[in-house]
Amino acid sequence: MFKKSCPWCSSKITPWQLGNRPKKTVGFLTVLPNLAICPYCAKPVRIGGKSLYVLLVFIPVITLGFVPIYTDYEMPDWFFIVGVATIIIAFSLAMFFSVFNKDYDL
Ligand SMILES: [Zn+2]
Repeated sequence: MFKKSCPWCSSKITPWQLGNRPKKTVGFLTVLPNLAICPYCAKPVRIGGKSLYVLLVFIPVITLGFVPIYTDYEMPDWFFIVGVATIIIAFSLAMFFSVFNKDYDL
């Protein structure tokens, strides 16, 4: 269901089948020191695609979650349920429609 084709060898893999290995060069601003590796051709892939913009919906949901901490306003009770449902749906959509791009070991 979450299978995507590898950009190097075009075999169908799921995101949790990816292996990883450390990058050859780790720079000063390296956030993730490991590369995701296709299990069939052992070449680096990276999750990408325009569907990852759906994750931007996290910003208003999480920001509104901080409102009752810093102000006196009480959020309604349904806000927590709707917020969690929004985050789960957005994450599922982003993972479902994302694609694998080629990554390069610099
Ligand atoms: Zn591959």
